[in-house]
Amino acid sequence: MRMILIGPPGAGKGTQAANLVNTYAIPHISSGDMLRGAVKAGTELGKTADRYMKAGDLVPDEVVIGMIIERIAAPDCSKGFMLDGFPRTQPQAAALDTALKAANVELDAVVLLEVPDELIVDRITGRRSDPETGTIYHLKFKPPPAEIADRLVQRKDDTAAACEARLDKYHRDTAPVIPYYAERGLLRRVDGVGSPDEVLLRISAVLGPQGQAS
Ligand code: AMP
Repeated sequence: MRMILIGPPGAGKGTQAANLVNTYAIPHISSGDMLRGAVKAGTELGKTADRYMKAGDLVPDEVVIGMIIERIAAPDCSKGFMLDGFPRTQPQAAALDTALKAANVELDAVVLLEVPDELIVDRITGRRSDPETGTIYHLKFKPPPAEIADRLVQRKDDTAAACEARLDKYHRDTAPVIPYYAERGLLRRVDGVGSPDEVLLRISAVLGPQGQAS
């Protein structure tokens, strides 16, 4: 199963990907997580990415494309992968196609998690994650257990100001990628409003139990 999870920031891509990788036994490849890892490790790529990420801007295509194409060529992706947060621009989508064609493999599905803009700011600014387990919580919608509340962290780009910028970028740069997949019959639209369990059921319904996109 080779699939992409696409949707605005705060749509629940990371949460759903974490659930889906167990079902389909494929690696979860999050461009955002990889970039945050590079920032933390202080690599050259991380230093470049940090400036853009803090401001809620997209990291330049030439930085992200190489990183993801190299990642999906790794042996653990030979049977499939779940891309989360990539592609985010038309050049990224085109580069992915070229790489898949060269490897003689095809995408099975592109799941679009749809959440209206007015719900996004609330979702993003309340988001917190546990640095020890990677679990994502929400102060209102998925409150953390009291005993770990003190160690939770907020992403630098989960502020209201950066959130607005990220939403703008989504509409300007990423939304145009959607018709590209719709025309090829790969797009599965899923309502992303509701509890994580409800949304997971909807995604599983469009993907099918064996990962056969329907
Ligand atoms: P995410 O965790 O997917 O919300 O990504 C966090 C931030 O990482 C984004 O706001 C961008 O600055 C950067 N980023 C992640 N994926 C991409 C991508 N495919 N293209 C460009 N920038 C990206």
